[in-house]
Amino acid sequence: MAGEPEDDCLFCKIVAGQVPATVVRETDTTVAFRDINPQAPTHVLVIPKVHYANAAELAAAEPAVAAGILREAQAVADEDKLESYRIVFNTGGGAGQTVWHAHAHVLGGRGLQWPPG
Ligand code: C5P
Repeated sequence: MAGEPEDDCLFCKIVAGQVPATVVRETDTTVAFRDINPQAPTHVLVIPKVHYANAAELAAAEPAVAAGILREAQAVADEDKLESYRIVFNTGGGAGQTVWHAHAHVLGGRGLQWPPG
């Protein structure tokens, strides 16, 4: 059920501490950890503790938690002293989503091209 932990969800397991991750920040509703396959000097994933398949579903059901993701992204950027950074929500397989638990990629520490590939 949306919002409840999913047995086969990797990010639910990270939230539960069952899968290791390099956690950099945690709030009551979010966890931020370094991406295992970083695409930039700073590449942190900010996820809600509750399970929704993507950011839009999270925002529709729990807008305060979705806003918390954005606040935490800024906090990650502040901690890593990023002047500029990019927040990415891959949504759907065609856009590169591979984990079906809402997450923001926070990328920075190098020049970022536009448009992205
Ligand atoms: O947007 P997408 O769904 O592809 O993002 C999932 C991200 O989760 C990938 O960047 C991948 O490297 C990361 N990941 C991770 N730790 C894992 C498994 C995946 O940081 N244990």
